[in-house]
Amino acid sequence: MDGVPTPLRCFNEYHSAEMLVDDGVETVTSVEQKKVERSIKEVVSVYKQMHSLPQPTLLREQHYQYLKKGLRHLSDAYECLDASRPWLCFWILHSLELLEEPIPTAVASDVCQFLSRCQSPTGGFSGGPGQHAHLAPTYAAVNALCIIGTEESYNIIDRKKLLDFLLSVKQPNGSFVMHVGGEVDVRSAYCAASVATLTNILTPKLFEDTATWILSCQNWEGGLSGVPGLEAHGGYTFCGTAALVILGKEHMLDLKALLRWVVSRQMRFEGGFQGRSNKLVDGCYSFWQAGLLPLLHRALFKEGESELSRQHWMFEQQALQEYILLCCQNPGGGLVDKPGKSRDFYHTCYCLSGLSIAQHFGNMDLHHEMILGEEENRLAPTHPVYNICPEKVSKALQHFHQLPLPRQPGPPAPDHLQS
Ligand SMILES: [Zn+2]
Repeated sequence: MDGVPTPLRCFNEYHSAEMLVDDGVETVTSVEQKKVERSIKEVVSVYKQMHSLPQPTLLREQHYQYLKKGLRHLSDAYECLDASRPWLCFWILHSLELLEEPIPTAVASDVCQFLSRCQSPTGGFSGGPGQHAHLAPTYAAVNALCIIGTEESYNIIDRKKLLDFLLSVKQPNGSFVMHVGGEVDVRSAYCAASVATLTNILTPKLFEDTATWILSCQNWEGGLSGVPGLEAHGGYTFCGTAALVILGKEHMLDLKALLRWVVSRQMRFEGGFQGRSNKLVDGCYSFWQAGLLPLLHRALFKEGESELSRQHWMFEQQALQEYILLCCQNPGGGLVDKPGKSRDFYHTCYCLSGLSIAQHFGNMDLHHEMILGEEENRLAPTHPVYNICPEKVSKALQHFHQLPLPRQPGPPAPDHLQS
């Protein structure tokens, strides 16, 4: 069957190839790069010695146990994420839905109640109860509630106040600040566009000039930076591109330059992605970078590009699966940045999300799978714009699109109409 990968085909090709090619000048960057390549070579050679028929395996049960425990108990190491608690809900719930593990009703309800305590009286969600509303945890909370996808979870979101919050962080030039008095960067535009679409509060006024501002973040490299004029970066590039897709303006990007930039971020030796030029491979970019390829594929298709594959994204899907399965799994569950790093829920979520992108090509109408290893390794598909499972996106859209748009503050009514 076409599309079935040969076990370790890429590793055999990649690893017999010359590793880092540079101009022979040793720098901190080149020393670190060689160190990572050596550690990966070691992982692969140990793996080959241990397995007569190499078939990398997803440690499904171990990941499930690690995630399940995280919903109820976190170690002291997570204290620094006290202002990111809705993120932990999203990272864990999304990982579980990718593994197709149902969330017990009682746990789902407890998560709903916790997130309702994170909703700010001024609208939007904060990083924890009693904190200020912020766009990042607002995105995470809305995604988590849509993954749960029950009447209880949908009803927690105060859409009128959410719209008030989004309007309060909107800037006159089209950008958004992350929170009142906070910093501007392209993440905020994505978080705002994502939650506004999912909950059906998107109005033309809310995103006036936003596309133009995001477009100004695409630089000479082809990728996008956090704010205009800085270095292109995987996380910001994903956020900016996904926001433009939501706003229907992605064709205004230089799509070919963006494509060239992102495919050049897949590492020739490691198979995973780096976040920026000359940086090291990191498992989380399996989503932030590889997740751009579905967005670009569709954008180029809409532009009439005729040479597009109907089976594969424009990156080495097998090499990415090899990197994630061989180099990013903690034997006790959870996934990591690169060999030698400790596990955490952020890397678990984005390694699994990237693995899902690498396994599934297409959309609802056209679907082609390329699963490295046994069928057991198969994850559920993820929506490349919102990064929750596509059926949860449809369910949320269906639910919220029955509800009217909240009334927006308009000019004061004439005197004779008041009272
Ligand atoms: Zn990372």
